[in-house]
Amino acid sequence: MKTFTYNAQPSRVVFGSGTSRTVADEVLRLGRSRVLLLTGHDVAEPATEVARALGDLLVARFDGAAMHTPTQVTEEALASARAHDVDCVVSVGGGSTTGLSKALAVRAGYDQVIIPTTYAGSEVTPVLGETENGVKTTRSSADILPETVVYDVDLTVGLPPAITLTSAINAMAHAVEALYAPEANPVTDQLALEAIRGITQGLPKVMADPSDLDGRGELLQAAWLSGSCLAAVGMGVHHKLCHALGGGFDLPHSQMHTVILPYAMAYNAPAAQDVMRRIAQVMRVPDAAAGVHDLVASLGGPTSLAELGFTVDDIPKAAALATARPYPNPRSVTVDGISALLADAVAGSRPGGGNAFPRAELDRMSRAVVASFAGTEDPRLHTLMTDLVRRAHDFVTSNDLTTAEWEFAIDFLTRTGQVCSDVRQEFILLSDTLGISTMVDILTNSRVREQTPSAVLGPFYVEGPPAVRSGADLAEGLPGVPMWVDVAVTNPDGTPLPDAIVDVWQSNEDGFYDVQLPDLDGPVLRGQFRTDADGRLRFWTILPCEYPIPDDGPVGQMLDGVGRHPFRAPHVHFMISASGHRRLITQLFPSDGAYLTSDSVFGVKHNLIVDMPEHRGPTPDGRVVDGAWRRLDFTFRIAPDA
Ligand code: NAD
Repeated sequence: MKTFTYNAQPSRVVFGSGTSRTVADEVLRLGRSRVLLLTGHDVAEPATEVARALGDLLVARFDGAAMHTPTQVTEEALASARAHDVDCVVSVGGGSTTGLSKALAVRAGYDQVIIPTTYAGSEVTPVLGETENGVKTTRSSADILPETVVYDVDLTVGLPPAITLTSAINAMAHAVEALYAPEANPVTDQLALEAIRGITQGLPKVMADPSDLDGRGELLQAAWLSGSCLAAVGMGVHHKLCHALGGGFDLPHSQMHTVILPYAMAYNAPAAQDVMRRIAQVMRVPDAAAGVHDLVASLGGPTSLAELGFTVDDIPKAAALATARPYPNPRSVTVDGISALLADAVAGSRPGGGNAFPRAELDRMSRAVVASFAGTEDPRLHTLMTDLVRRAHDFVTSNDLTTAEWEFAIDFLTRTGQVCSDVRQEFILLSDTLGISTMVDILTNSRVREQTPSAVLGPFYVEGPPAVRSGADLAEGLPGVPMWVDVAVTNPDGTPLPDAIVDVWQSNEDGFYDVQLPDLDGPVLRGQFRTDADGRLRFWTILPCEYPIPDDGPVGQMLDGVGRHPFRAPHVHFMISASGHRRLITQLFPSDGAYLTSDSVFGVKHNLIVDMPEHRGPTPDGRVVDGAWRRLDFTFRIAPDA
């Protein structure tokens, strides 16, 4: 179990479409009335809308926010704020404008309402990075965090597609690194995975149609979640590299994040396998790093550092910067390792090699198959077919299944069918050994609490067992430890159920059922009883033994392939039917039997494990037994029909 600390950040968040129209209310809510509006050069239209919404609260406007928050720009803005005696800053723009707002707040204590128009995520972090004389310094404090963040999806519609793409991947980078940060915790894990899912889904929609409000909403929400991760946990080699490349080579912020992310992920993958598996799962791709690379490439984003003007000659300096005082990272950060990472990033080669994963084409295909069921009249059939196909497609795609593997699967299923006969049901065995039979059984039969738990039917039940009278010996002289069985069948309230039909079957001392022994003459160790007036039946049999399920066929090969044994825990089968009651199919397991915790068909249930104690001397019906005998006493409770 992991020990962790989680600090929730206190900003108020308003999210939606058209939400910036409430900005005046948000300012008044903070008890402020004199606003300086901050913005950058390219955000004129959103800024004009916000200015209009602020009305009389707006007393000054500063349009000069610049990348990396240069301190001289901050001083200019501060002078304007002081000259107009403002008590609140409202910023509209990307991370650069947010940075300026934070820089003013930390200097003069202004309240902040931030309206982000990119996906940088800075608006929810208590971190401020500033540059002075070309040197970037970072600080973190509660005063830096804005009071209110207003996310207005409408204001992001004008963000150019190229910036949309790189800014969203910038957000994804925060989420990815949060998952393997030492401070990672259940809250940030969920935020991060949801952010990655939102970006993977939203980005293709927005790139196809920049005005797609649903897609824009997914991205903006992901930006908030990613920023929240960044605020709560530390960063790793990806952010360290970006800081090194941004500071040392002046590479553009979000483009650089976009290029570096897949390579940083590939670098960390050997040391963060579980994280990469979870990312791949939400992205619905076989490999997380290659998946991010493919996503960016398929949308026309930058995939190589060469595109950003960085060359192989820059690698030694960059590697030295990135390995000096490295951030905590799952894989140790070495000059050689980072140099190799950068060489791949300069070349833009796909992590892991190979060709891009054709996600979009696969999804189109899946939608077509699902749509082909649209005419299904039976709604249940429609649900089952649709879900089966979706999940089967997901299995195929997320495992990047090869033709050879699929042919193997078809051959396996074909052979499974071919082995089936009147006395052998390999498909039931397959379903049993994969736990599916028990799953279906639990769903169908084990939801009535007062009823004895059910267990799987198994492949050895034979219709129409011979009728047997109470007191008979099912073993008919077969070798084994004799066992006296005295069972009752009752209603859930304990009322006895006379005349219930009870089928019993079990294996012999060597673990074989009669149907597996062709030389046997007729049914053995199976029979059909009726309960007496007290709802009881008694008979002799032998103590059941563990036995291997038939493992000379495809199912046996499967067990062998995955290193599993074929043994079933010893048990006696019962099938109980009484008029007006639900049929109960179950098994009883001796508590001193083998394989109770590793039954090959997952059939053992806690309440079905029963003491079958050893006795010596006189038997209940006076039969003379030489040596030890066992006794099984049990009451089956069966529920009335619903
Ligand atoms: P940015 O703010 O510089 O914006 C990128 C570009 O998009 C700019 O040219 C901007 O004018 C334009 N733009 C923004 N919104 C627009 C819109 N709606 N329509 C048209 N154009 C629009 O860059 P960014 O990527 O948002 O943020 C990067 C900065 O934020 C960097 O300085 C980075 O260090 C900082 N940052 C800080 C944190 C933190 O927690 N402190 C987190 C992430 C980023």
